[in-house]
Amino acid sequence: MMVSEKVIRPIAEDESITTDVAIVGGGLAGSLAAAVLARAGHQVVLIDKRAVYPEEFRVEKIAGRQVDILCRLGFIRELETVACAYDRVINIREGRVVDVSAGQTYGLPYADLVAMARRLMSMHSGFIVDQVTAVSCSDDVQHLRLASGKRVTARLVVLATGMAGALGHSLGITRRILAERHSVSFGFTIARPDNSPFGFEALTCYGERAADGVDYLSLFPVRAGMRANLFMFRDPTDPIMRELRRETKSTLLRLMPGLQSYLGDFNVIGPVQNWVMDLSAAEGHLQPGVVLIGDAFQTNCPAAGTGVSRLLVDVERLCTEYVPRWLETDGMGKEKISQFYSDPGKIAADQHSLRMAHFRRALTSSSDIRWNVRRRMHFLRRNITHRVDRIRPGWIARVRSVLRA
Ligand SMILES: Cc1cc2nc3c(=O)[nH]c(=O)nc-3n(C[C@H](O)[C@H](O)[C@H](O)COP(=O)(O)OP(=O)(O)OC[C@H]3O[C@@H](n4cnc5c(N)ncnc54)[C@H](O)[C@@H]3O)c2cc1C
Repeated sequence: MMVSEKVIRPIAEDESITTDVAIVGGGLAGSLAAAVLARAGHQVVLIDKRAVYPEEFRVEKIAGRQVDILCRLGFIRELETVACAYDRVINIREGRVVDVSAGQTYGLPYADLVAMARRLMSMHSGFIVDQVTAVSCSDDVQHLRLASGKRVTARLVVLATGMAGALGHSLGITRRILAERHSVSFGFTIARPDNSPFGFEALTCYGERAADGVDYLSLFPVRAGMRANLFMFRDPTDPIMRELRRETKSTLLRLMPGLQSYLGDFNVIGPVQNWVMDLSAAEGHLQPGVVLIGDAFQTNCPAAGTGVSRLLVDVERLCTEYVPRWLETDGMGKEKISQFYSDPGKIAADQHSLRMAHFRRALTSSSDIRWNVRRRMHFLRRNITHRVDRIRPGWIARVRSVLRA
């Protein structure tokens, strides 16, 4: 479902705008940053080249730490109004239950998530639909030029332009590729032929053979039905990619025969979206007057599910801790900007994201003996924990807390 955009305080064509903070890019990172700063009473202008975020395949479920941060930021109620909530996921492999995960999770299309985030902006802020074509930054005042000819002057520029690096280039900010074509993701919707419900709230099916490169298929509810995200570590030019796009159902069942008994008869409805992800990070980003957040700073492996956690840590740390303090005093030199990039919470989230990206790839597709054993142990450990917890509920949690004490 597409949620219609609300353009807050429209800005005239030839206006030259002065603001405290100009945020370039109204995806999830930029829109949430604008909402947090505007709510705290700062003057913010958010600029995005598209009035409505297109139906592109990005994150489609919010869980765990992401829910915690959205709660702290005070946005969880808004998420609940647009998403499908669920709290139980059956995890299977080779047709058998590995374990069952619990925890509040929300499923929704990325376009709806971004629309929700943009609606959170208050009257202190403005939203401009335009493309930023040039940026120049200094210790004091920052200037943006827009495709329409408008100009924006700000004390701070936040670049939240996602994976598109073109704008940063003019400032000498480059992207270092850390892992080319690291993973491949597919997104599509499934339904029963008679539209009857599936026999589970949400289900994760892990790949069966390392050679297939299938990490997992995640099935979860969104308002339009049962959404499927398939994450793989395999050469994107392999013929299997084409088969997955064209004969999705039969290829899925060939890769994961254990799925059949859980799904019964089903059809793939609507388009099959596909994305090949490079892991990359910004370089040369420590500059006066400008700060990078979200994918503009570092991309993430979709299978690891860390992109939004990283992005939310960026938004929370930057907009609640640093920007309010920076605006209290004159200037926006490098010494201020470097405080954000050296924030221990941010560094930990960025590093965790990269570690998880490499871990998931090795756990899924590495065929050397060490990883073969580790893979077996990984699922065995989860299964034993699950069985023990079923016989003695809460026992594992109690043992863990005793060991931690
Ligand atoms: C297929 C896929 C699946 C994923 N699954 C998960 C998952 O399960 N869990 C998870 O945590 N993460 C996941 N991620 C990662 C997550 O989606 C991203 O980290 C997140 O969407 C990045 O948001 P962002 O705001 O930084 O960038 P974006 O959402 O890309 O926003 C960038 C915005 O900048 C605008 N823009 C760019 N240049 C300009 C310009 N010059 N002028 C004006 N506007 C401009 C664009 O129009 C866009 O709106 C996935 C990613 C992909 C690709």
